[in-house]
Amino acid sequence: MLLDIDGTLVWRASRVHAECVVAAIHEVHGPIELSKVDAAGLTDRRIVRSLLLGAGFTDEQIDRDMEWLLAIAAARYEELCPDDLSETVLPGIPTLLDELSRDAGLQLGLVTGNLESIAHRKLTAAGLARPLLPWVGAYGSDAEDRNRLVPVAQERAAVLHGWAHRWPSERTVVVGDTPHDIACARAAGASVIAVTTGAYERDALGEADVIADTATEVSTALAAFAAS
Ligand SMILES: [Mg+2]
Repeated sequence: MLLDIDGTLVWRASRVHAECVVAAIHEVHGPIELSKVDAAGLTDRRIVRSLLLGAGFTDEQIDRDMEWLLAIAAARYEELCPDDLSETVLPGIPTLLDELSRDAGLQLGLVTGNLESIAHRKLTAAGLARPLLPWVGAYGSDAEDRNRLVPVAQERAAVLHGWAHRWPSERTVVVGDTPHDIACARAAGASVIAVTTGAYERDALGEADVIADTATEVSTALAAFAAS
């Protein structure tokens, strides 16, 4: 089971995260004017590219400094992440994660647009790290296109279990709050539960296998997948 973070496990935990990305852009490219982008469901790399394309940069200019810029954003976040993000945890999520982490037949993991170190720091500050350890997943640091992330997470789950083959897609369920989460599951042939706790309403999430309004509904949907 591959969980998104923002809008799925926590809500409004990304103010400092966004500020660190913008600060890194300014540090690398100077005090340029940035317009807003709809960042929900995008990887951090894609958010940086969208902001810079909007400010008139070319892909070539963007790529030249991308790694450096992301390293700065991650370092700033390490410094500035609030120590306690527990108030951003969505209702029922700690119980859901505890319950799922005790299920021996299930591997919990992440598929998120957050850079890896930001994801881990954010979840640790939210008090959600324990049931997710050892970390398995794919992050915005692994690819710019979210649709490439599920196979990366499946590889890492297989390595953890000592398997020679990737974690199978027919046993993979993605949980996320945006149409981008649904698309990345579909790209890998995985099932998908969309949650309405984040950036999108139910009517934008109709392509999902199941739409869940609460953590309890996610749990019920997972049990149904496991039984099928
Ligand atoms: Mg999300």
